[in-house]
Amino acid sequence: MRKRLAIIGNGMAAGRLLDELVRRDAGRHFDIAVFGEESHGCYNRILLGRVLGGGTAADIMLKPAGWYADSGVTFHAGVMVTELDGPGRKLTTADGREFPYDVAVFATGSAPFVPPLDGLRTADGTPKPGAFLFRTVDDCERMRAYARPASSAVVLGGGLLGLEAAKALSDLGMHVTVVHQPEWLMNQQLDRPGGEFVRRAVERLGIFVRTGASAVGVVGDEKVEGVVLRSGEVVPADLFVIAAGVRPRAEVAAASGVPVKRGVVVNDLLATAVPGVFAVGECAEHAGVVYGVVPPIWEQCQVLADVLTGANPTARYRGSKVYTKLKVAGVEVASMGLVEPQFDADEVIQVIEDRRGIYRKLVVRDGKLVGASLVGDGEAAATLARWFDRGGPLPPNRLDVLCTGDVSPAAADPEVCNCHHVGEAAIVAAIKDGCTTLPMVSAATRAGTGCGSCRGRVADLILKTAPKANGVHST
Ligand SMILES: Cc1cc2nc3c(=O)[nH]c(=O)nc-3n(C[C@H](O)[C@H](O)[C@H](O)COP(=O)(O)OP(=O)(O)OC[C@H]3O[C@@H](n4cnc5c(N)ncnc54)[C@H](O)[C@@H]3O)c2cc1C
Repeated sequence: MRKRLAIIGNGMAAGRLLDELVRRDAGRHFDIAVFGEESHGCYNRILLGRVLGGGTAADIMLKPAGWYADSGVTFHAGVMVTELDGPGRKLTTADGREFPYDVAVFATGSAPFVPPLDGLRTADGTPKPGAFLFRTVDDCERMRAYARPASSAVVLGGGLLGLEAAKALSDLGMHVTVVHQPEWLMNQQLDRPGGEFVRRAVERLGIFVRTGASAVGVVGDEKVEGVVLRSGEVVPADLFVIAAGVRPRAEVAAASGVPVKRGVVVNDLLATAVPGVFAVGECAEHAGVVYGVVPPIWEQCQVLADVLTGANPTARYRGSKVYTKLKVAGVEVASMGLVEPQFDADEVIQVIEDRRGIYRKLVVRDGKLVGASLVGDGEAAATLARWFDRGGPLPPNRLDVLCTGDVSPAAADPEVCNCHHVGEAAIVAAIKDGCTTLPMVSAATRAGTGCGSCRGRVADLILKTAPKANGVHST
């Protein structure tokens, strides 16, 4: 008899898990139901900047409403799960309904961290008009509707998300100031010199940066009019975006007796200590690590789909190597692994081209790449990501990998899509098989469906490879 599989959350992890389940013909084993607090189908959260820039939800939709019915999946849109009864194997939703399940998966993601700020909220507890988060399509649509050219914005947080929001608002014609508490931008991914190079690049875009500055409050009676810094200074702001980090959404799991530390604690099978309950994505904590980017989540979904369907009973998730890239046009930043050496024997190689705004740093342990930071040089990123992934011994002259590209045999097939690890050869093969548009190549290879930053390179390959008569369409 088929079992009932309930997926709690309908974000990027749930979407990928559904793809992996469908690929394994999971409908033979399960009646699948997805509960999504957001009313939209699953969309590509990574590309929210496009919605902020004036695009629509449809532009970034991964699974329109029809997909669920067509795939035999029941989609409870706009339905929040409030409780899970592990022993009774049923869950309860905010509207009081109960749903029995056999297997449940938490895929509840993260919520933006909102620091305590005086005056942020109105009397009913909602944020004042003009204050926004940057997490959902609805956040971006509301922010876009509120933003006015020639008015001012403050973005709290100078990390990956904050800088992306700042650029999108600046592109809308706003005067933007980034307020960042640490001493340098992107301090999670870069050391101080790297952060200073990013600052220069961001300032060249016309965005103002205040580092080492904490926001303590918001001024304005009816709506946001400014942001108060600890020094007492008020930075004028008609619009205020909070992008100061995220926290795993593990509150329903915790209230239901599922062990939670920072996130929902899972083992190598993505299983929690409660029988029949699993977790994936940003809400899950594996070996003490909570991931905040999608490549590890894709790996988790693959393993969980194998485990649930029995397609590969030996599948285990052993943790992921993390690679991040800033998606702000004009500011190339990539970072992977360690930012700083940890042991005396770790080697550090830094190459600084001050005039060109290029900063490169490698951390090498036992002859292998364990960390890399790049600012202003997008080209070396793919090469370094391969060295980092493979963990093979670097050439004795470390500068060979930094400045002259990959000298290994694998360089013959450079990676184009770092999110899905798709090499040039696979893309060219797909084009030769008749995929002559970007959506076709993406559907066949997944290239371009992650952060989207490789779409230009894929389009170039189509132009170079596709028979001329077919033309190239990039939409
Ligand atoms: C603006 C932005 C840009 C980003 N850029 C990148 C990038 O370039 N590269 C990268 O790798 N990552 C990026 N990320 C991070 C990436 O989006 C996340 O890692 C990914 O979305 C996590 O997937 P998830 O499914 O775990 O969580 P989410 O995508 O957040 O989905 C969780 C879903 O569960 C729902 N939910 C929560 N609780 C419940 C409940 N109790 N009942 C029902 N539903 C519930 C939520 O409403 C949400 O829809 C970015 C994120 C943002 C916000």
